[in-house]
Amino acid sequence: MITLDECLSLHVVMAQRNHVRLEWRTPYPVLARVRPVAWTCFCRATVYELCEGGGRAFIQRTVQLDADNEVHETSVGSILEARAIWAALLSGRAR
Ligand SMILES: [Zn+2]
Repeated sequence: MITLDECLSLHVVMAQRNHVRLEWRTPYPVLARVRPVAWTCFCRATVYELCEGGGRAFIQRTVQLDADNEVHETSVGSILEARAIWAALLSGRAR
């Protein structure tokens, strides 16, 4: 078990009761050059990454499973939109 003070990355807080439910889609290659610019800690089973490329962005959610990882993404939007969703996700206002 990893303790929190060993973690360098962010953790999402528990989702609020009235949180916005994001639409998580099966990933398909949309952006040619995408790089993660922020991510949550890998100590949690579910890892979120804010991915940006070509002036567009989306959030990728990976559930780390024993056999394989389950990956979903939000739809691609502007970087400003995606960063707003990212902030909401981290603070429990969206999930
Ligand atoms: Zn952690």
